[in-house]
Amino acid sequence: MNDSSLLVQPPDLRLDGKVVWITGASRGLGRTLAFAFAGAGAEVLLSARSADALADVAAEIGRTGGVVEVIAGSIADPDVVVRTTEFIGERWGRLDGLINNAGISPVFGRAERLDESDWLGVIDVNLTSPFRCCCAALPLFERAGGGSVVNMSSVHGSRAHERLAAYAVSKGGLEMLTRTLAVEWAPRRIRVNAVAPGYVETDMTTGLREHPRWRESLLARTPMHRFATPAEIAPAVLFLAGPGASYMTGTTLFVDGGWTAA
Ligand code: NAD
Repeated sequence: MNDSSLLVQPPDLRLDGKVVWITGASRGLGRTLAFAFAGAGAEVLLSARSADALADVAAEIGRTGGVVEVIAGSIADPDVVVRTTEFIGERWGRLDGLINNAGISPVFGRAERLDESDWLGVIDVNLTSPFRCCCAALPLFERAGGGSVVNMSSVHGSRAHERLAAYAVSKGGLEMLTRTLAVEWAPRRIRVNAVAPGYVETDMTTGLREHPRWRESLLARTPMHRFATPAEIAPAVLFLAGPGASYMTGTTLFVDGGWTAA
């Protein structure tokens, strides 16, 4: 594209006809991403554990003419991930984007009091499962001639917070997975990036956001002094997934109200 063509066709976030798999799409950020990607013209495969909640999201997208399919099951189950990629292969024959959004943060407590099973559970869903999804998606990306992965990290992937050891370690690992795959897969025209939100108004953070002490402590560390809505995170994910970020790989975009600058 030459410079003057930008005057008539500025860069945009459209993903018309692209096939994108979004994990954890039944609620919260993933649900918002499902609408945002479908709205940008992508054909979406939504996965999450709850079949009913997924069906509701799909019905709403379908009513506006969007192309959407769903697969219910846990990404921590390797069989579910294989079944999902097999389905995508049969339905579309390729994949253009993978949004590793599913994640959990079930424990808020000091590291020494953390059960090893809780630790392993968080690492399994937040780190091992995105790795599993990336590897399973690779042959489908190759069939598309390239692809784009966006991993949902967190401000705690690089900034420590008390009582979140397993979660922060899982996201720190996810950011290093992002950089490693970016290097390994660049020759295959597959870009791998991450988004690191601050605190977003979803079910995951209700307990902290409604707790008087933690609410004030979190807002005090956020220069913009408010939490994000899911819709404020979606544009960064769309941008990284799409053609506007064609020369970006291995990066983490912070959408954190200034937390990392403070
Ligand atoms: P949420 O709890 O509202 O939604 C999580 C989604 O992931 C749900 O759809 C759930 O079904 C799905 N999920 C969880 N475990 C799964 C599994 N094993 N298999 C398949 N799906 C599974 O949380 P959210 O706030 O929307 O978080 C989405 C992502 O954003 C997570 O990775 C989270 O760590 C990250 N994040 C959230 C915040 C925040 O403040 N809410 C901040 C930074 C990063």
